[in-house]
Amino acid sequence: SEDKPHQNLAIIGHVDHGKSTLVGRLLYETGSVPEHVIEQHKEEAEEKGKGGFEFAYVMDNLAEERERGVTIDIAHQEFDTDEYYFTIVDCPGHRDFVKNMITGASQADNAVLVVAADDGVAPQTQEHVFLARTLGINELIVGVNKMDIVDYKESTYKEVVSEVKDLLKQVQFNTDDAEFIPISAFEGDNIAERSDNTDWYDGEILLEALNNLEAPEPPTDADLRLPIQDVYTISGIGTVPVGRVETGLLNTGDNVSFQPSDVGGEVKTIEMHHEEVPQAEPGDNVGFNVRGIGKDDIRRGDVCGPADDPPSVAETFTAQIVVMQHPSVITDGYTPVFHAHTAQVACTIESIDAKIDPSSGEVAEENPDFIQSGDAAKVTVRPQKPLSIEPASEIPELGSFAIRDMGQTIAAGQVLSVNEP
Ligand code: GDP
Repeated sequence: SEDKPHQNLAIIGHVDHGKSTLVGRLLYETGSVPEHVIEQHKEEAEEKGKGGFEFAYVMDNLAEERERGVTIDIAHQEFDTDEYYFTIVDCPGHRDFVKNMITGASQADNAVLVVAADDGVAPQTQEHVFLARTLGINELIVGVNKMDIVDYKESTYKEVVSEVKDLLKQVQFNTDDAEFIPISAFEGDNIAERSDNTDWYDGEILLEALNNLEAPEPPTDADLRLPIQDVYTISGIGTVPVGRVETGLLNTGDNVSFQPSDVGGEVKTIEMHHEEVPQAEPGDNVGFNVRGIGKDDIRRGDVCGPADDPPSVAETFTAQIVVMQHPSVITDGYTPVFHAHTAQVACTIESIDAKIDPSSGEVAEENPDFIQSGDAAKVTVRPQKPLSIEPASEIPELGSFAIRDMGQTIAAGQVLSVNEP
């Protein structure tokens, strides 16, 4: 299964709509729960006379982790289909979801949106769909869940589908890139097998839809961008910056530049999983050593790129943002902390240039006095310290950010253009 292309999959949706249950069901149906783990539980379940003990086990296990306060309960689980090897990435609702998505730690390629048929679009459905769209999810599979509760009624399914379509249009998500499936994560309808309960439905079932997703293109052809996570000093080697290659290739012998620290040199060695390698590619977490670079020359938040096409440094940049939650209003001069790749920099929103109508993408108001929760806007931003960031249209991996203030994520956005000093 390691040979199959990899997909990072986010499971998003309102609380209690069935995300964990769906993850349990996917792991169970794809045989991803280790045999010994199932065996262990089999007897116990049989003693208690529980039917469908295996699935019950998976769910008990997830519930147990949840009770122990394990925040990664449904994240970092893995399963595979004929085509792909899937990793379920950190989910919204977990504290660090937005931050992780932006730092690339859990950049999802595609997402399954879970919407309970008996509840329809709820506040977190909106928030997550918006985030998914802003952070560059390619395709969305919408599981209209808990169909068992609504007696598998086609009319209810259709109502929910139309609500979700309206929401997708609002955030300018192309509804052609979304697939809708009536499911019950709990009963297993239309997950691995076509359900007899929904004979009015003839589209793909969930595992088919996952299997038929398009393969993510690894951004190997782009220029190297490697945001630095940490910098170590290792005896016998010297200064070792570590980080994840976001785009392009890192080769020994390359001449590289670190921005905004503005230093550079030749790559001497690259190490991955405690072994020396000649080359690293997108997704690889590496430590490397650059001739002439000392520990204090570079820092977390720097981006490493080719010396002849160094990472951009913004004096100001323009961006499209969406305000997710702010207790009052945002006006010119607001200076929260921007989280972009591994950098955290206070930035001033110098001007709010336009308010955008989310349903059409058109300018709704030029130079508004303020924006508030739910608003989308074009803004001009001035970092208070040098920040390396790229237009999302050129290097999407380095072009999105979250805005945080008072311990919460206020907004998320994408860079439109960078004005260098
Ligand atoms: P999450 O908060 O989105 O992860 O939701 P959970 O997976 O924890 O599910 C919330 C509740 O809904 C639990 O009691 C589940 O057993 C129940 N649930 C989830 N999916 C289904 C379903 O398809 N049908 C029914 N009847 N209940 C479900």
